[in-house]
Amino acid sequence: MADAPLTLRDLARLDIATIKGVGDKRRESLADVGIESVLDLLTTYPRRYVDRTNEAHVGDLVEGVETLVLVTIRSVRRVPLRNRRSMVTALVGDATGTLSLTFFNQPWRERQLKTDQEVAVFGKPERFRGKLQMTNPVVDIIGDKTGRIVPIYPQSEKANLSTWEIAGWVRNALDRAAPRTIGDPLPSVIRERLTLIERHSALNTIHFPESIVDKERARERLAFDELLRVQLVLVGRKRAFERDNTGIRHDMTGEMQQRFIDALPFPLTGAQRRVIDEVNVDLAKAVPMHRLLQGDVGSGKTVVAVAAMLVAVQGGHQGALMAPTEVLAEQHYAGIQRLLADLKVPDDGNLFGERQLRVELLTGRVTGERRRDVLTDLANGGVDIVIGTHALIQEGVEFSSLGVVVIDEQHRFGVEQRAALRGKGAGERHTTPDVLVMTATPIPRTAAMTVYGDLEVSVLNELPPGRTPIVTTAVVQHDASGESSGEVDAMWREVRSALDAGQQAYVVCPMIEESDKLEVAAAEEIHESLRKGELAKYEVGLLHGRMSSQEKDDVMTKFRTRKFDVLVATTVIEVGVDVPNATCMVILDADRFGIAQLHQLRGRVGRGSIASRCWLVRQNPHVGVERVAALVKSTDGFYLAEVDLELRGEGTLMSTAQKGASDLKLASLRRDEKLIKAAREAAFEIIDADPTLKRHRELATEVNLLLAREEKEFLTKD
Ligand code: ADP
Ligand code: MG
Repeated sequence: MADAPLTLRDLARLDIATIKGVGDKRRESLADVGIESVLDLLTTYPRRYVDRTNEAHVGDLVEGVETLVLVTIRSVRRVPLRNRRSMVTALVGDATGTLSLTFFNQPWRERQLKTDQEVAVFGKPERFRGKLQMTNPVVDIIGDKTGRIVPIYPQSEKANLSTWEIAGWVRNALDRAAPRTIGDPLPSVIRERLTLIERHSALNTIHFPESIVDKERARERLAFDELLRVQLVLVGRKRAFERDNTGIRHDMTGEMQQRFIDALPFPLTGAQRRVIDEVNVDLAKAVPMHRLLQGDVGSGKTVVAVAAMLVAVQGGHQGALMAPTEVLAEQHYAGIQRLLADLKVPDDGNLFGERQLRVELLTGRVTGERRRDVLTDLANGGVDIVIGTHALIQEGVEFSSLGVVVIDEQHRFGVEQRAALRGKGAGERHTTPDVLVMTATPIPRTAAMTVYGDLEVSVLNELPPGRTPIVTTAVVQHDASGESSGEVDAMWREVRSALDAGQQAYVVCPMIEESDKLEVAAAEEIHESLRKGELAKYEVGLLHGRMSSQEKDDVMTKFRTRKFDVLVATTVIEVGVDVPNATCMVILDADRFGIAQLHQLRGRVGRGSIASRCWLVRQNPHVGVERVAALVKSTDGFYLAEVDLELRGEGTLMSTAQKGASDLKLASLRRDEKLIKAAREAAFEIIDADPTLKRHRELATEVNLLLAREEKEFLTKD
């Protein structure tokens, strides 16, 4: 089949050395940047494009407005500065004028830039001594390429690869592929319905477009392919899970859930009611539930969790809730016990036909006889609901009949741990418990479809009424000259007046990622200095990650019972801690935290009816400005998640969510909402007609080829 169209696998098998002009040395340089096969080369897409007919001229430049200009280099000069630093300047220009470029601390520019070269320069022009100048602009060397639109490839100074060399090799690869053509594995019905162009044409066009519109069409097609591969794995896994697991068809006719809801001291929010309904529908089905509940801090996820577990209990099964820390597990235990205080469970063996519902705690701190009791009664069904930590998934923990599993703050748990807890349900009847995964880290909808594409998603997008919004203020500790700013003093004055009014405050210490020890030292120092200084009149407690669970517990109890007015803490308080009387949150070195984390921390206040305040203290007036500004502007977790995605890019999102998709080179979780949906629908269509992709061999091969091994393992686990 020598003339069959080339597949991606064929291209992956062709060594890059088969390309004209790639000798041993270039081959090594290319390997350094991860390009080893012709496929790697063809999927190294241009970073940008320069449209020769459409770029600005030097004469059009406006001071202070970032612009791209195409210019020729007239001269390059290196200017020595003091302290062995250097500056490289270049004079560039076109028919309409000249511009000078200044590069600080980039001595290599002297070698890179050559007289008469054509370059694309992107930067902000300023006027200096009467002349236009750009400082440290982005420079792309275009070389002597002709054609209207010039692709600019990621260049590697280190590997000494230039964009025009890469363009030349890509050209050679495409020319040689032309006779056989590159095949298209996408069923043409789907391709035509979505009006996507063919793959071969897309590959040609993305590298050498005739117009920017064409390029966009090509990008759309290739981005769709990337998204489809991810969705095929996720949808495939979802369907396999549904096929291979038998769930419990929970009896929905009992009254426990409703009695619980009726007994709550507040009415459910509309969102809680809706999500409980969504969960109930899942619970009634024979297929096990696998649902993600996203709900901002304070949106009332616990009530939903308890409602779900009660359905299990009603039918004689058990519920388990796993939290990531002991503090949280204990807090949940206390809270849930309170919520369930008067609830009875049907029991035929009992004279009264019912008995008290039993909730137990299982953490590393439950030991000795108590632990043995809990374990025994979990195994014989005497315990209805168990709240715990990782301790729940250890050997020796057995359930009589685990019906509903709730996993709180899921980003703290790996998939293995999720699977382990679910596995505890595989008793004699080989049923899989229903799983509800809860997270307080909202992620945008499109991202959720990709990152959690194998789960159903519910959203609690409504806070219980009566919360007064948190007012957030940005505070700069030092001004530009390093002097302490008055803003900090004003902040402590306001904190003191809240404390005088009987309220409480958190002070969050800087996070020091590099060292636990340093972080604790910093916290101790801050604790000392506040106790002696700003907050000398008050009881100030300290909480950090190196304390024993017992110590932490004591501190939290003292704070909860108002023996402490102030709690100085490291980020251990990030998750779930609930003290409604705490109304002030001071976050020191806020610039060291990410948006999601700041949002979580801030969520510790604003839980009662008194107006709460949050101060974000920055060391440096120039770092973290956008992040802090976003927090000042909004308390909406979903909005903040969007901003976060915008500021950090999606790579970080994928890795924190522990689900990578390194294949996403062109697709954007931010911008490609329509494509993501289309890919997901196409994946369902393909998988439902052909679950093992027997009749879509080439698609299956591509999934295997392009998703990194770890990801696939991850994706195909569960
Ligand atoms: P989270 O979603 O952050 O886990 P919780 O479940 O801890 O939120 O709920 C936060 C607080 O709001 C708790 O004190 C809880 O009792 C209260 N709460 C939950 N639902 C409602 C509601 N519908 N109306 C009023 N308060 C509620
Ligand atoms: Mg919670």
